[in-house]
Order: sequence, then structure tokens, then C-alpha cells
Amino acid sequence: MTAVASKCRVCKAPAVIDLPRHNAKFCAEHLQQFCRRQMAKAVDDFDMFVPGDRILVAVSGGKDSLAVWDMLVEAGYQADGLYIGLGIGDYSDDCGGYVERFAAERELTLRTIDLRRDYGYDVPTASHATGRVPCSACGLSKRRLFDQAARDGGYDVLVTGHNLDDEAAVLFGNTLRWDLDYLARQLPVLPAANGFPKKAKPLVRLTERETAAWCLVRGIDYVVEECPIAAGNRHLSYKESLNTIETRSPGSKASFYLGFLERMAPLLAGQSAAATGAVHDCTRCGSPTTGEVCAFCRLVEKSSAHEPVPVEMVSRRSGSRTR
Ligand code: SF4
Ligand code: ZN
Ligand code: ZN
Repeated sequence: MTAVASKCRVCKAPAVIDLPRHNAKFCAEHLQQFCRRQMAKAVDDFDMFVPGDRILVAVSGGKDSLAVWDMLVEAGYQADGLYIGLGIGDYSDDCGGYVERFAAERELTLRTIDLRRDYGYDVPTASHATGRVPCSACGLSKRRLFDQAARDGGYDVLVTGHNLDDEAAVLFGNTLRWDLDYLARQLPVLPAANGFPKKAKPLVRLTERETAAWCLVRGIDYVVEECPIAAGNRHLSYKESLNTIETRSPGSKASFYLGFLERMAPLLAGQSAAATGAVHDCTRCGSPTTGEVCAFCRLVEKSSAHEPVPVEMVSRRSGSRTR
């Protein structure tokens, strides 16, 4: 974020950010007010949670998850963090450091899981041992462990920092494939069902540029470099394509995603495998699954028996599964 040579729309002080999609420029104070309002609107519109609910925030060390944790605590919500050490070389060490410092400085409760320490594998090894692309092995591990921690910890809702850019890119990918099962579940809030905890994405109305600006004006340090495995994945190319469209036509990204929620998502209600009831308990761990043994148990079995694989061996592979 660089200072922009003009004035805040609200107070006429020097602006720190220009938001073409809102035809507005804001100073630091009114940028924060804008972000708070956008989060509050998402929370209210989609009945995400209420004051007094126990919230577990999935934190990665990146700007979005630290921003949402900060915004929730600032708004008075009771929010703890959960960080999962993925074992992606130095990158994971850096991410863990940012999360620990953030929590310690604010005296927040941080839970941690380390894949290698607690489950005997890491993401590079899981990718190699199972033949899954790294983001698929990683996503499966994170989803399962965040769900389990929310359930076991008695939390009312699991919150993630997905922003408008993330959701629009995933929607773009799912639409290109007309993946109805994924489209039917691509909602900002999913109720607790079939053993899965309630999940919410309070930042879906904010872009990643806006969450980065929130972190800057709030003095939040976050990991800036990309995951070394992310380079070249499809999700990033969808974001680039949408950014090109957004530059020419500000507001397109929001109208694509928010229009989907308003007009298309209701037509898809009940289309996902989870909603149609094709879910059983895993015969090994008891977690909900559409098969006999869940994909996570199969991944742990193969990966923990494999010798550790260095991140360099998998970082050239690209591709990611959308949610
Ligand atoms: Fe995991 Fe892929 Fe994200 Fe890296 S880019 S943290 S491997 S999901
Ligand atoms: Zn102002
Ligand atoms: Zn299982």
C-alpha cells in the first residue's frame, strides 16, 4: 500500500488506499471502519456467529488469517487460534513464528498441531507417498485437523480467513468445470452437519488488498512470501485472470462472487454429497466420510510409513484442487 495523492472520502485527511470498486479513498482510520463494516455485514447476512460463541480461527501466518483473528478479537468475539505446522521447509518455520508472535503480543490462546511431530509425516512426504499434488495432500490434512480440533475443543464455529479474491478464484475454477458438488458447498457459512463443525468465512466481502491494508495500518506482521509449492497452481492463475478483468472493470470480482451467492447458490442447495446424506463414519477414526476408511486415515497410513521427502522434491509440481 502506498500513499495515494488524494483525500479520504469521509474525513478529507490524506488517503492511504484507493478502492476503485467502491469509488472511494480512505485514510487509515476510515479504512478500518470500512473493513469492520464489511466483516459485520458478512457475519450478519449469513448468520455466522453471535457474541458469546466460542470461535476457533484457522491461522496460517498469512495476512488474511491474522487479519480475521485481529478483527474478531477487536470486535469483542471470543476467538482462539489454531496453527498447523505443515513441514514445508523453512516456509513453515517462518509461518509458525509469525503466528506465535501475533498471539503472544496480544495474549491470545493459540493451539498448535505439527504434522511431523503429531502424525509422523509432513506435506512434501504426503504428496510423494500418496501421489496427490501437494496442495491436495495439504488441503486434506488441514480440513480434517481443523474440523477435528473445532469439534473436540467444543467450539461453536471454525473460522477461516478466505477473502473475496480466494472465493472468486475458487468459484471461477469450479464453474469452468461445472463441479456442482463443490459449487453447492461454496458458501460463506456451512452449518454443523454430519459430524462436521459449523464453518464461516467472515472476510468474503474484503479483497486481499484490503486485508493487507488492514494488517499494515494495524501493525500486524505476516508472512509475505508465497508457499514454495504454490507457484504455478491453478488457483493463482484464476486469480490473475480475475485481476485482469477487475482492472478493466472494477467491481466485477465482487459481482461475480456475491451475485453467485445471491442468485445461483439457492438453486444449488441440497446438491452436495454431504447434503444428500451419503456420509458415514470412518471405520478407523469415526470421522465423517463418503467411503469406508476416510481419505485422511489412508493418507496418514501411507505418509507416516514413508521416509521424509524434502520440499525441493515436490516444489516443482503444480496444480491444486479447489474446495
Ligand atoms: Fe498447502 Fe498448497 Fe497452500 Fe502450500 S500452497 S500451504 S501446499 S495448500
Ligand atoms: Zn478518513
Ligand atoms: Zn478416518
